[in-house]
Amino acid sequence: MNLPLPDPSSAPATAQCSAKGCRADAVWVLAWNNPKLHTPERRKTWLACEEHREHLSQFLGVRGFLKDVVKLADWEAPEGA
Ligand SMILES: [Zn+2]
Repeated sequence: MNLPLPDPSSAPATAQCSAKGCRADAVWVLAWNNPKLHTPERRKTWLACEEHREHLSQFLGVRGFLKDVVKLADWEAPEGA
């Protein structure tokens, strides 16, 4: 199994896809939560390009971790702007 798990130590400081080896610009934010590791309110985020959005969201989805998929532009947009 060669799963595209991003390095958890790399914070999404750059808007780059979280898929392993992918350096494409991220377009999507996948917000997820692992109930075994995180409190229910906690949100971890992965970034995904168009190509990897489905792949990464499926990866999280089958585990029941996926909470939200939001356009990066919308995710970063300040409220009321
Ligand atoms: Zn990608």
